[in-house]
Amino acid sequence: VCPTAALTEVNHTHKVWEELHKPDKYVVVQVAPAIRVALGELFGMEAGSIVTGKLAAALRRMGFDQVYDTEFGADVTIMEEAKELIHRLEHGGTLPMLTSCCPAWVSFIEHQFPDMVDVPSTCMSPHIMFGAIAKTYLAEKIGIDPKKMVVVSVMPCVAKKAEAARTELSIDDNDDVDIVITTRELGDMLKEAGIDLDKLPDEDFDHPLGKSTGAASIFGTTGGVIEAAMRTAYEWVTGETLEEVEFKQLRGMDGIREATVDLKGKELKIGIAHGLGNARQMLEDIRNGKSEFHAIEIMACPGGCVGGGGQPYHYGNDEIVKKRQEAIYREDRGKSIRKSHENPEVIKLYKEYLGEPYGELAHKLLHTKYEAKERI
Ligand code: SF4
Repeated sequence: VCPTAALTEVNHTHKVWEELHKPDKYVVVQVAPAIRVALGELFGMEAGSIVTGKLAAALRRMGFDQVYDTEFGADVTIMEEAKELIHRLEHGGTLPMLTSCCPAWVSFIEHQFPDMVDVPSTCMSPHIMFGAIAKTYLAEKIGIDPKKMVVVSVMPCVAKKAEAARTELSIDDNDDVDIVITTRELGDMLKEAGIDLDKLPDEDFDHPLGKSTGAASIFGTTGGVIEAAMRTAYEWVTGETLEEVEFKQLRGMDGIREATVDLKGKELKIGIAHGLGNARQMLEDIRNGKSEFHAIEIMACPGGCVGGGGQPYHYGNDEIVKKRQEAIYREDRGKSIRKSHENPEVIKLYKEYLGEPYGELAHKLLHTKYEAKERI
C-alpha cells in the first residue's frame, strides 16, 4: 500500500488511546482533506460521501481536547509555496520548483534522484506545518506547555508516518507531529469506541486553526496543490482579482499533464504527475534538460491523496477514486472563501505571529531541507 514500497503499515491506534487517557496531556487532532470524502465508506456510505461535520463531531467524542483541520495547514502551505515560487522566478532560483507535500515522493527523490534535492520546494507538508504552528502559536495562545501537547494527524497515507519521524521536523527535540494514523485506523478506532458516524450531527472544527478555504480542500486530489498555488500566485503577481478560480486545464486523471497559466505577461508552464512511474519520467526530463516547466506537482499515489495507501481499500476500482475526487471539488465549491491568502485565521496567524510569508520565522518553523540518500 505504500507507493514507494519502502514501508509496511504499522498500527498506531493504541498509542492514540494511551495519550487520550493521560490526564496531563493535551491532545490535538487534525484531519487531512482526503479523509472527509472517504471515511464514510467504512460506515456503509457511498463513495464520495462528504462527512466533514460528522468527522469533527466523532473526533470530539473520542476525547481529543481540540479538533482541527489540516486544511488550515494547507492554506499556510500555499502562502509559503506561492511566495517561494515567486521568489525563485524573480531571483533566478532553481526551476522548476516541485511541490513537496507528498512525503513518499520526497523520499523517492532523495533516494532515486539525489543530485536533484534542490528542486523540491522547501515547504514542509501541511500536517507538519500545522503541528509546528500548534506547538508554538496555539500553545502560547491557550497557555499549554508544548511538551505536554500531543499532535495526532489523521492521514490518507502510510508514508506520513515515516515523515513525522524525520528528526529535522521538530522544535527543541519536540516532534511537530507525534502520531500519525490512517483513515482505516481512524475507522477502526471509531468502531472500537462504538461511535456510529452516520448518526452524529455536523459540528465545526475548533478555532483559531480550524478555518479553511476551497483551495485547501483540493489538496486531496492530483492537480489540486498546484491549482491552489496558482490562485494565490496569480493575485500576488498581477495585483488583480482572480475571478475564475477553477483552473480546469490543471484537472483530470491523465498520469502526466501539462498546462500553461497566464499571469498577465508571464506564462507559467505547469507539469503534473501522479503515480511514481510518471514522476520518474518527469524527473528524468528535468535531469536531461528536456523540461521547460516552471512548477511541477507530483503525487505518489494514483489520483493523489484520494487514492492514498491509508484510505479505505478500493481494490483498483478507479471509479471510487474518481467519486472521492468529485467530492473534493464539491467541497471547494461549497466554501465561502476559495483562495488561501484570504483565510482570515491564516491572515491573523501571520499578523500576530509569523510576520511575512517566506520570512525569517516562517523559514524556521515551516521550511526544511532534503538530503541526498543512498539509492534503495
Ligand atoms: Fe501520501 Fe499518497 Fe498523498 Fe503522497 S499522494 S501524500 S503518498 S496519500
